[in-house]
Parts: sequence; C-alpha cells; structure tokens
Amino acid sequence: MAEIPYKIFLEENELPKTWHNVRAVMKDLPEPFRNPATGKPCTADDLRPVFCDDLIEQELNTTDEYIEIPEEIRAFYKMYRPSPLVRAYNLEKALDTPAKIYYKFEGNNTSGSHKLNSAAAQVYYAKKQGLTHLTTETGAGQWGTALAMACAFYGIDLKVYMVKVSAEQKPHRKAVIRTYGGEVIPSPSDTTEAGRRILAENPGTGGSLGCAISEAMETALKTENCRYVLGSVLNHVLLHQTVIGEETYTACEKYGIEPDIIIGCAGGGSNLGGLISPFMADYIRGKRKIDFVAVEPASCPSLTRGRYAFDFGDTGKTTPLMKMYTLGNGFMPSPNHAGGLRYHGMSPILSKLYHDGYMRAVSYEQTKVFEAAVTFAKTEGTLPAPESSHAIKAAVDEAMRCKETGEAKTILFGLTGTGYFDMTSYQSYLDGTMTDYIPTDEDLEKGFATLPKQDF
Ligand SMILES: *Cc1c(COP(=O)(O)O)cnc(C)c1O
Repeated sequence: MAEIPYKIFLEENELPKTWHNVRAVMKDLPEPFRNPATGKPCTADDLRPVFCDDLIEQELNTTDEYIEIPEEIRAFYKMYRPSPLVRAYNLEKALDTPAKIYYKFEGNNTSGSHKLNSAAAQVYYAKKQGLTHLTTETGAGQWGTALAMACAFYGIDLKVYMVKVSAEQKPHRKAVIRTYGGEVIPSPSDTTEAGRRILAENPGTGGSLGCAISEAMETALKTENCRYVLGSVLNHVLLHQTVIGEETYTACEKYGIEPDIIIGCAGGGSNLGGLISPFMADYIRGKRKIDFVAVEPASCPSLTRGRYAFDFGDTGKTTPLMKMYTLGNGFMPSPNHAGGLRYHGMSPILSKLYHDGYMRAVSYEQTKVFEAAVTFAKTEGTLPAPESSHAIKAAVDEAMRCKETGEAKTILFGLTGTGYFDMTSYQSYLDGTMTDYIPTDEDLEKGFATLPKQDF
C-alpha cells in the first residue's frame, strides 16, 4: 500500500453519488415523530406546512440505504468538495504517541463548517418546489452563514433568527450572513408571538436555539411560499452530512486505513452521524469492530446526563415530539458557555444507536477543550472551531492512552470547522478568564421539568 500522504484528496469524480441512510441497516429503528396533539406518529401531511416536500420524504425514509444525490447538488458540492482527510503527523509527533491520527476537515469553505453540505441540499429542494422564502435559526452562526450562501446561489430570500448572545458576541458573523443577502434577527425578538412571550417571561435572556427555532417556525407558517429549514438534529440533515462519511470511507478503502476509533463532536448530532454512517453500517452488519465516540460539552451534556424521552425540538413546544436524549426543551446552558454545541436534544438516530449500545459518549469542560484546540492549532496549523475542538480533545486523550499501553490504534475524528469567528472565546481562554461550569443535578432537574408529560 502506498505511503499515506499528509492530505488525502479524492478526485472530483470520486465525489459520492449517494447519501447513506443508516436507518435502513439499523436492527431497531428510532421511534417515529409524534404529533403532540394526537399522540400519533407524524405523517408527511403533518409536516408539510413547515418543511419542504422532498425533505419530508427523506425524513421518513427508513428503507432505502442509498439515496441519490441530485446532479445539481453534486455540482454545488464540487465548489468545495471532496474535502481532505488529513493524517495528523505533526500532532502525533508532538504527543509522542504510537497512535495514527486522521481528521476529516470540513472547514474549507467560507461558512467555515460542514453545515454547507445540508444547506446546499435543502435550498435546492426548496427551489425545486417553487418556494421563494426560507427561515431558520442559528446559534454560533455557521448554519446561518451556510444557508445564506446556498440561498444566494439559488436566489431564495432568507430570514435568520440568531441567538441574541451570539449576535452580540459575533458581529462579523452577522455581516457575513448579510453579505450573502440573509436578514439577521437577534432572538428572542418582538417580531413573533413566541419571541414576545419568551421576552415577557424572561426579559434579560440571551436567547437559546430552542427559542430561535420557535420564532423561525412561526414566521415560516405565517409567510406565503415559505418553509422552515433546520441545520441539525433531523434525519434528513444527518443524511446530507453522510457525504462526509462516504468520502471518508472511500479514502480509507483506497489507502487501506482501518479506523479503530471514530470520534466526533455532537451538538445535534449531524456531523457525527454523517461521518460514522457507512462505518456504522459495517459495524451493525458485523463486518468490523469500531469504537464510536460522541463528544459533548460538560455544560450541555444531553447524551451523558440527559433522559431518553419524547421531547419538543424547541422551547415554544411547537415541533413534533421526538424520542431523543434531551435535557428538556427549557434547558439553557450557563451564560459562560463558549464552545457551541448548546442544543438541548440530540439526533433521534444517534440517540437510538447510543441507547442500544452501538456507541459511547464523553463530555469535557471547556477549558480542557480550548487547551486541546491550542495544541492542535500550534501543531497542525488550522485554527479549529471550539465545537470541533471537543473531538480533538477526545482524540488527544485516546492517543495519550495509546502512549501508555503502546498500542498503535488508528484514530479518526471529524474536524468540523474553523474558529476565526470565535476569537472572543479564544481570548478569554488565553487571558485565563474562561471558567468551567458543570450543571448540578438540581440544575438539570429544572430542564427535565419542561419535558412533556406524554410518553408513548
Ligand atoms: C454546528 C456545528 C457543530 C455541531 O452540529 P452537529 O449537528 O452536532 O454536527 C459542530 N461543529 C461545527 C463547526 C458546527 O458549526
């Protein structure tokens, strides 16, 4: 086998032609979404007022393992894909570990993260359906930026409800979204009923993703020819992100790389789900053994400390109910939380795989995460997003364990993006003013108290 280059780039004609739908392989499926009014499983018609038709079909598809990527979306992908699979030779050397470390780098586009993979697909389907407007939420801003890029490309009007603290902390993110023609509304806002209600209950609030989702959904329902699109959590978003896993799988086959451990940060679970999907299929089929690891912040620990329960996707309790690991739709991470990944729930697919023992989860405090981020920046050159740095931290820990045991494991992780817009957080880490906060059990109880009472 040829020596592994520092960067493995696939050829343009090796760009995947299909997304991978791991549900077709799972022995036990995630629970279907429930209509909160009737308690019955959601039908396509229940979802139609809010979501695009083709996306609903993908959302509910549990049988087709491979779903074709339309040629138009592949053409969009070619602007920035295939993305490199990098052998972290320099990091390995700095850690003095026998482990081989690889990362799949998704930050090579202006939005700075993997989110463009789903934005490109979702806006294409909206356009195909003849829609003219879209609404969404954004937390740290990567999703809003990715969607604004795709909307500019397809000529669709976009309103982005941006979590208020982020909008204030990241004025440049806002400017990028506006450059691509997106309108940014800090959330909670007085432009929606949901926003006004949340502001009345909680006047000083810096907002949350759950709250921004409520506002974006309400506006989609009230605007003609408009739908709501979401950047994570949902099955179809995870599906689009499998372009990451499909490319990684091809590259690994081509160079004879056999990962023992695959690691990803988990906010709503889309990048991790997308990265592991084809590998998980092999694992479920008993073709190979891999240790899959989800990494989350200790301050927003949905997998490691959440409940597996039906919950709303948003604070306004307007979405269908999803069975997932959740901290409760009313959960708000503490204000000092800087590293993203602040969503209360988790992809129903990943939740189910985790619940059934196919993967494990770990959590880290943010100062540890930024320490790993700085080590990575100094050795590998790329300035990582704080979200991605959760995966770096876990990969470093695994590599250090290999150093103790002398095992030369192959560790692969997802480097989801770059951190240029997160310099306020980096600065507080470098100044020594960054603090860690791990919620107490009582703190978490407040979130669990917001879980719906229905269970099915
Ligand atoms: C949004 C985001 C994440 C987390 O989202 P997932 O849906 O869990 O993948 C991770 N890294 C970056 C850079 C992001 O922008």
